[in-house]
Amino acid sequence: MKQLIEAIKSGNISTFSSPDVKVYASSYTLVGKTSLVMVRTAEGKKLIAAGEGELYDQLIGDNVDGGKVAALSHENRLTLNQFIPYTAPQAFGTQVATMGLGDRLGIASPGHIQTIRGKDIRPVLAQQSIRELALTGRTYEDVLDAAAYAVFQEGYKDGYGADGDHLKKEEDIEYALRLGFTMLTLDCSENIDNTIESMSEAEIAAKYEQLPVSLRNHYEKRYLETPANVPGATLAYTSQALKKDVLIYDAAINFMEAIFRKYIAPLDRAVDFEISIDETATPTSPEAHYLVANELRDRGVTIFSMAPRFCGEFQKGIDYIGDIAQFERELASHAAIAVHFEYKLSIHSGSDKFSVFPLIGKYTNGLFHIKTAGTNWLEAVRVVAKVNPSLYRRMHQYALEHFAEATAYYHVTTDIGAIAPLAELTDAGLPDYMEENNARQLLHITYGLLLQAKNADGSKQFADEFFQTLAEQEETFAEGLRFHIGRHLELLGK
Ligand SMILES: [Zn+2]
Repeated sequence: MKQLIEAIKSGNISTFSSPDVKVYASSYTLVGKTSLVMVRTAEGKKLIAAGEGELYDQLIGDNVDGGKVAALSHENRLTLNQFIPYTAPQAFGTQVATMGLGDRLGIASPGHIQTIRGKDIRPVLAQQSIRELALTGRTYEDVLDAAAYAVFQEGYKDGYGADGDHLKKEEDIEYALRLGFTMLTLDCSENIDNTIESMSEAEIAAKYEQLPVSLRNHYEKRYLETPANVPGATLAYTSQALKKDVLIYDAAINFMEAIFRKYIAPLDRAVDFEISIDETATPTSPEAHYLVANELRDRGVTIFSMAPRFCGEFQKGIDYIGDIAQFERELASHAAIAVHFEYKLSIHSGSDKFSVFPLIGKYTNGLFHIKTAGTNWLEAVRVVAKVNPSLYRRMHQYALEHFAEATAYYHVTTDIGAIAPLAELTDAGLPDYMEENNARQLLHITYGLLLQAKNADGSKQFADEFFQTLAEQEETFAEGLRFHIGRHLELLGK
């Protein structure tokens, strides 16, 4: 350690080399008279500080050989945020493209940063829903700590965001904002009436008649009597469709406004406020999108982005399913509406949608927010399939046995019977599972069960070995992410 401390003090860390310590050279930072670097030892990642000053004093750690060895703890992360501003998350506003790169494992962000660095797009590295936290047994503190340390490790100074994703409850919104999350994705699905979609015309008319006259007049006047004029969007309201949209979205609009007034408007810092209406039974027509946006603007609700549910299917981890020509027509209108109201169109479950990325890049003029979440988990599984076939086989088998449980959380159309039987594949063939949609979805949606699975004695069935394998294969994992997420960016025109 003495040699390393000396190297850090002299600011010449390239002179240090050791078979037992990996130095993340990009992390090297000098703050006042404190030099700081991240390393990996046999015990995992550590911060090594040398010199003196406030940062040095505040870091909690052990004094060793005239320096300090500090853990990647929550407290030390807060200290980094205080002294090294680029390690704290930030809001981005609407003038730059952004990509949500949710990292369920807390180890994918370095690879994500390497992929996005230098490009005309900014990463939202911390992005988890409450469902994901529950399935992985993590907290928002863990998520933010992992993202901040990845940013420090890579010396990435262009800024990153932190998204409290798909939040529905006020307590969760308060929790995320209290921790300093810089983006909030409001999930309005519980205020969207999913029964309307399957109702007959007569049923819809009868239900609509029960709404207050003033409310009906308000909507009819605004959408039936005055034609909507949004350059680039095709909007045609019919009386029938309007009734349906009002029944589906009116309560949701009230919810959006209430949350905005209570939590977003009073903040003394910028937060990227996203509205999500994607997790519903009803695809969002351009007319419905315009109606929601127009009502929000009239009520003074400013948003960063809106996530409609597009036509066709955006299933997890696989390409777009649906009519691409229809998708293109509707996307053109959705994108034009977003431009008109000065926010970004947000595309959820955006990983692996290779056939529609060029359209998204084109119609949004490169100004979009796109979310990916589980695709980096699949890249991690690919690493395991390559280097630890025994672990992969056990995980695959477990996923097969527990697939039905996982479908409670995710909508997929996986055909389990179409997945090649494990026993028929040689070890060298295991990574090929990651090329096959059914196997991808099988592993994609069972992540929580796999990570939490326990042996009879209470120890983790897979997680410890899984994380150990990935720690040893850090560079292979990052390389896989650079390739896979890099393909996303290329097709999106970034
Ligand atoms: Zn969503």
